[in-house]
Amino acid sequence: MRDAWEFLKPYLGRYRASLLAGFGALAAKDLLATSLPLIIRAGVDSISSRFALSTLMKFCALLIGLAAIKGLFQYWMRVILIGVSRDIEYDMRNDLFAHLLRLSPDFYARTRTGDIMARATNDLNAVRMMLGPGIMYWFETSLTFVLAIIVMAWVDWRLTALALLPAPLVSLAVFWFGRIIHVRFERLQAMFSDITSKVQESLAGVRVLRAYVQEEAELRQFERLNRDYIAQSLRLARVSGMFLPLLQSLVGLTFLIVLWVGGLRVMSGRITLGTFVMFSTYMAMLIWPMIALGWVVNLVQRGLASLKRMREILQERPSIAAPPAPRPVPAGGDIEFRNVSVIYRGTRALDRLNLTIRQGETVAVVGRTGSGKSTLVRLIPRLLDPDEGQVLLGGVDLREFDPAELRRIIGMVPQETILFSATLAENIAFGVEQATREQIAQAAEQAGLGPDLASFPQGLDTLIGERGLTLSGGQKQRTAIARAILRDPRILILDDALSSVDTLTEERILQGLASVMRGRTTILISHRVSTVRQADRILVLEDGRIVEEGTHAELLAAGGYYADLYQKQLLEEELEAV
Ligand code: ADP
Ligand code: MG
Repeated sequence: MRDAWEFLKPYLGRYRASLLAGFGALAAKDLLATSLPLIIRAGVDSISSRFALSTLMKFCALLIGLAAIKGLFQYWMRVILIGVSRDIEYDMRNDLFAHLLRLSPDFYARTRTGDIMARATNDLNAVRMMLGPGIMYWFETSLTFVLAIIVMAWVDWRLTALALLPAPLVSLAVFWFGRIIHVRFERLQAMFSDITSKVQESLAGVRVLRAYVQEEAELRQFERLNRDYIAQSLRLARVSGMFLPLLQSLVGLTFLIVLWVGGLRVMSGRITLGTFVMFSTYMAMLIWPMIALGWVVNLVQRGLASLKRMREILQERPSIAAPPAPRPVPAGGDIEFRNVSVIYRGTRALDRLNLTIRQGETVAVVGRTGSGKSTLVRLIPRLLDPDEGQVLLGGVDLREFDPAELRRIIGMVPQETILFSATLAENIAFGVEQATREQIAQAAEQAGLGPDLASFPQGLDTLIGERGLTLSGGQKQRTAIARAILRDPRILILDDALSSVDTLTEERILQGLASVMRGRTTILISHRVSTVRQADRILVLEDGRIVEEGTHAELLAAGGYYADLYQKQLLEEELEAV
């Protein structure tokens, strides 16, 4: 509760003026509303002692006038307070997205996308409902209660005390049911996360799903989740459904007391008819607040449950962040791995690895799938920090740099290409706002996209991705390479970036890249000898350790894994040529 308040304070504080105005309107509305029964009382008393049409008209006009003004305040109250909740929703959504962008890859590795989506939509909505209608009706009803009770007690405190006898029961019910609703709602939202995740994963993998004819199985799994969700919804509905009638019957009890006891008191002449009517009017007026209270408790409980789920994401700290006083990233320098280990859940992906890559050198890394090649290069732009040892650039530990600054000098083509629903040019210029048309075209050319461009309907302006042209694997990779080249990086990393192109295209791309690679530190990961043979140095990685190291000729002479690989691929090429 306190945590929630600490979290909400800055959001609410930003709208202090509006909140003040909104609550002002709320107070005015409640004051006017509670004054109406007093006027009715005066009216009834004055005409029951001496009937006059003019008096009746006067009271009617007064009632209508006050009700109209009350309505006006009610309108302002809603517009302002609900408006603020929308503003806060807007702020929170922005903050949430900004925060998600800052979080490190390890967060996304252990969190399901659907779960994040659910929290950013359903839960955010529940929080807004709490901050808007929830808080507004909470204050509206409490104030109405307090004011009505003050007036009633002032007129006849005995009758008031009797009328309020069921009140403790009401609080008890609210407290008891509120807790159950909270727990059940929390479980319901978690289930919704599961469903969202399921849908998201199915849609993302819809091609595989079809290819393996898993539609039926997928549907059955979804149906099961959906059924669980409905069952949980009903479980929630059962308590919420019991809550309302219970409150209503407690309210009805109050009514009964006022009618019975109040009626007797009128007959014995202890209170006037007007007072009796006033009491009844107040009771009628309090029915809605009592019912609303149940609803509001519901809203607030749900809002708090959802707020907790949202804060779980917002409290995630990026595991890779800038140090308090980051060092400037040097213009050049060697990359050095000192006793570096990366441990994923107990297994070493890199095992006390030592390696120096000189500035301007082209180093190739080969090795079996799972030998740690990707892990090795992910350390350089700090997409990952080592668990043991150090990675240094120009003699400075990478952890002393701001990762954003460091990444600016690195062009990395990851193993999996990610393109966005945008034009080809926009995809290539991703992250380089000031790129000119010529630069983009040149990068595309160097990456070997030239012939493809000619075949695209609108050349560089062809829309690609989900809402445009679907590129082949090789075209995607070349687009990603163009993207990396355009950054004019000092360090260029290609993680198996030529795996989806044929040998001929590969040769063309390598030729295009040769001029780009000159003067830059380049790290080339591949399983193809033809890709890596020109490198200054070739490393063979196995189980996170460097097992062979040297030039193409040296490694061939050594007769290890690399020489084997070479023989195998030579044979394949010959077979293909036949
Ligand atoms: P390569 O690129 O050579 O195929 P990787 O560097 O991707 O190898 O992976 C090395 C080892 O680390 C593999 O055994 C892989 O399963 C494991 N690994 C890679 N990334 C993760 C991760 N995010 N979580 C857990 N294990 C991982
Ligand atoms: Mg890899």
